[in-house]
Amino acid sequence: MVMAATDLDQIVNLCKRRGFVFPSAEIYGGFRSSYDFGPLGSLMLRNVKDAWIRTMVQQRDDTVLIDAAILSPPQVWEASGHLANFTDPLVDCTKCKQRFREDHLDGSGVCPGCGATGSFTEARSFNLMFKTTAGPIDGAGATVYLRPETAQGMFVNFANVLQTSRKKPPFGIAQVGKSFRNEITPGNFIFRTREFEQMELEFFVPPADGPKWYQYWCEARLQWYIDLGIPAEMLRMRDHDADELSHYSTGTADVEYLFPWGWGELEGVAQRTDYDLKQHSAHSGERLDFFDQTTNERYVPYVVEPAAGATRTMAAFLMAAYDEEEVNGETRTVLRLHPRLAPYKVAVLPLSKKDNLTPLARQIYATLTDRYSCDYDETQAIGRRYRRQDEIGTPLCVTVDFDSLEDNAVTIRDRDSMTQERVAIHDLLGVVGARLGF
Ligand code: ATP
Repeated sequence: MVMAATDLDQIVNLCKRRGFVFPSAEIYGGFRSSYDFGPLGSLMLRNVKDAWIRTMVQQRDDTVLIDAAILSPPQVWEASGHLANFTDPLVDCTKCKQRFREDHLDGSGVCPGCGATGSFTEARSFNLMFKTTAGPIDGAGATVYLRPETAQGMFVNFANVLQTSRKKPPFGIAQVGKSFRNEITPGNFIFRTREFEQMELEFFVPPADGPKWYQYWCEARLQWYIDLGIPAEMLRMRDHDADELSHYSTGTADVEYLFPWGWGELEGVAQRTDYDLKQHSAHSGERLDFFDQTTNERYVPYVVEPAAGATRTMAAFLMAAYDEEEVNGETRTVLRLHPRLAPYKVAVLPLSKKDNLTPLARQIYATLTDRYSCDYDETQAIGRRYRRQDEIGTPLCVTVDFDSLEDNAVTIRDRDSMTQERVAIHDLLGVVGARLGF
């Protein structure tokens, strides 16, 4: 289902109502464009990151995972070029005092805030990095930065990883974690926030193989979103124009999703060449290259980087999954999330709260939770409980009824088709595994 622009509100409401995403510091009136991930959202966000690690690290023998520090000294950002170049063009409207990114304006000269014409100031370069001080003495601490991307962690650890992992190009270093950017115009829910999570791979290759691997990663990354349930027609690959390229890139393509407000980037696949390793080598004095014993040649690898956003991607998965349909004259809201992304895989529902059903239902719940994240719900009518699970995307419900005590069987109900099947309890784990696909 393609969502209309107004449907963004439905997702935001559902996220709030069901505990996916809350406005941050809400009891104090909220903190602009910051969000907290609630009980279901934190599970789902973890699932997005796990799905990425599974594809990008676990299922490959040519990548490794690291987890680098968020706080970093200025030297890193001096060398990477971020101190000088990681800027957005900032304009102020002199009438309404709102600020905008010049490259996000439509070029008509009309302020989207107040409708004034010709009210913008000249664009100024605004550095997006958050700066703070480390150390206990006010005013005398050392300046440090919150990383604006995870990528530099891979470059500064290149030699460490090369030595300890026994990998050689082509090989990649992956990382998942928080990044921070002082965005001029955060917004569109969790699409653009100042604190967000990234999932990045720096893939080091012999220079001549750069274009081949760029092609490879463009195709592989688009497919990842399709495999996790986003319809292909809601996705596209868009090549950057020359004037859009980052300071380090010779070619970038974005995986874009058709958000309710239009196409938006989920991930950038960039050819970073040998820029970063050479910069860090020059600034640190350390050798950051690779000696190929088969050819007796020393070279600085080229880098192809697929860089995705975990929180932004989660928004796209939620929007793509959202569906409403008529069932028996009532509207059913269902999140058709891929089972890997769903917060709960199974809900165990004893038909009634009566004491004699509880031990069996609890036992089934314990068996399933050993392998999967599950919900247990014994309140309200069973139909209401099915709808609640549909709305949070739980792929399967297991209902324990009074017959279960006699026939040692339960009913499995499928979220998408709403069909039900009676399954022997001793077969349950196998059937659930087959239905979920893992
Ligand atoms: P944009 O053009 O939207 O500002 P970008 O091209 O600067 O993004 P990259 O530097 O390529 O983004 O970062 C890689 C990914 O990190 C993006 O594709 C996006 O998914 C995510 N990301 C970047 N900035 C933010 C943000 N402020 N909030 C949430 N996710 C972000």
